[in-house]
Amino acid sequence: MTHNANFQRLPEEAALTEQRAKMVDRQLWQRGIRDQRVLDVMSRIPRHLFLPRELWSLAYCDQPLPIGEGQTISQPYIVARMSEALCLTGAEKTLEIGTGSGYQTAILAELSSQVFTIEGLPSLAQNAKRRLTELGCRNIKFYIGDGTIGRPEESPFDRIIATGSVPLLPPSLCRQMVEGGIMVIPVGERFIQKLLRVSCAGKSVTQQVLCQCSFVPLVGKEGWHDTR
Ligand code: SAH
Repeated sequence: MTHNANFQRLPEEAALTEQRAKMVDRQLWQRGIRDQRVLDVMSRIPRHLFLPRELWSLAYCDQPLPIGEGQTISQPYIVARMSEALCLTGAEKTLEIGTGSGYQTAILAELSSQVFTIEGLPSLAQNAKRRLTELGCRNIKFYIGDGTIGRPEESPFDRIIATGSVPLLPPSLCRQMVEGGIMVIPVGERFIQKLLRVSCAGKSVTQQVLCQCSFVPLVGKEGWHDTR
């Protein structure tokens, strides 16, 4: 049994590894992602393991994919763009809003020192926690709840990333950043937003628009109040 299972898996795993290398070259490097740590980590992390089995063949395609409960795992380029914009050196305490499949969480865990991740839907949170524990990630704390109000008990954070959209920048998240901190967050309308990089220096907050994007909504006190 075990031998058969292994025999069947090996060629598929090899093909997925090859597809992952092509994804990094064509979708990330050729489109301008230059942070070597981001490129390395996305070459290593098996994105297919964060998807239902029947979607493995699409895992390295240039698109978002469904992860259940009406939610999606972001397109690889967007994951890379957001990770690069955070300028992670390995020393940061990072807050993620919207754990989802846990793929972005795994990348943050490799690139920061500690990750706090909040997911609104218990089933997604539990699956992500199981997956990341099996993969050996040890520096992640998982929470179920409304991430739009952040996690004041654990604040301040060096970096904050939201992988769902908000209509306006949530004041709670701004308050929970260290001086010199960076937040990457999609802000705008229900179906189209601007991906913002927000930097805090003293009392001044600088906003840079990275690109247009379309994320699922963050539903919560300082996010959207319904999903329509
Ligand atoms: N980064 C994820 C993609 C997440 S999609 C990945 O790599 O798979 C956005 C996620 O935000 C969804 O899982 C959704 O359930 C969650 N979400 C929505 N509103 C939320 C809230 N207020 N707080 C925390 N998570 C929320």
